[in-house]
Amino acid sequence: MRINNALTWAAEQLEGGESPSIDAKVMLANILGKSQTYLFTWPDKTLDAAQKAQFEADVAKRKRGEPVAYIIGKRDFWTLSLFTSPDTLIPRPDTEVLVEQVLNWANQQSSASLSICDLGTGTGAIALALASELPEASVTGVDYQVGAVKLATRNAQANSIANAHFVQSDWFSALACQTFDIIVSNPPYIEESSPYLNEGDVRFEPKTALTSGSDGLDDIKHIINSAPQYLNKGALLVFEHGFDQGAAVNALLADAGFVDVKTVKDYGDNDRVTLGQWQ
Ligand code: GLN
Repeated sequence: MRINNALTWAAEQLEGGESPSIDAKVMLANILGKSQTYLFTWPDKTLDAAQKAQFEADVAKRKRGEPVAYIIGKRDFWTLSLFTSPDTLIPRPDTEVLVEQVLNWANQQSSASLSICDLGTGTGAIALALASELPEASVTGVDYQVGAVKLATRNAQANSIANAHFVQSDWFSALACQTFDIIVSNPPYIEESSPYLNEGDVRFEPKTALTSGSDGLDDIKHIINSAPQYLNKGALLVFEHGFDQGAAVNALLADAGFVDVKTVKDYGDNDRVTLGQWQ
């Protein structure tokens, strides 16, 4: 089977899915260990038997709905290539908005040696993006799932990031006596009964990383209530949240005594990130 034929066949197999042709290219480029440009440059190259078998197996998995990021075991986020596993959420492009907001804030501080905590770090995406951009900062990523802690540690090593480390912790439980200049979190925030959980890639992601009580706000409330004792004066607390939770998270932060609270939209023009500063 030649590359061009393989891609046409796969796109047909995946028809009706979200992005048949892109999925086919991403999976084939991964199997060949090449860039997507290579696929266009060498359409006549033939897949060997092992590559063909692997491609057929991957296409079958995708046809069953498995996320491409789990099938190929990686996903790009920010400037980084991250390993993924079904232990954690797949990094989303919208989460880069949170990273941008934190970098804007960090660049306005007088000190560059900031201490940063990422709660519910998953693949380590946020922690590692911040650590890579802020080489003088020291980043602690925590996750309740041991599998996530191992994965994030592996991602730090694979991206040669030395100023981030990861620990197992139930939110703040393992962080006694530590204080931070920035606490960030992309916690679970989807309503438990949301029909969205039965759609597309999210069906394959861990529920514990997605849902948080009937209104999706249980974990955000817990973090806001606990955060002050872990924050330095003037420190930043930032959340990613649901498109319809901006006003609620704003109010929760303001009620807890945070100031300069603001909500920022994602690339789809939805409220997605809310920030507040501790006094
Ligand atoms: N943003 C994710 C989604 O919409 C949800 C992530 C989360 O709950 N933290 O699928």
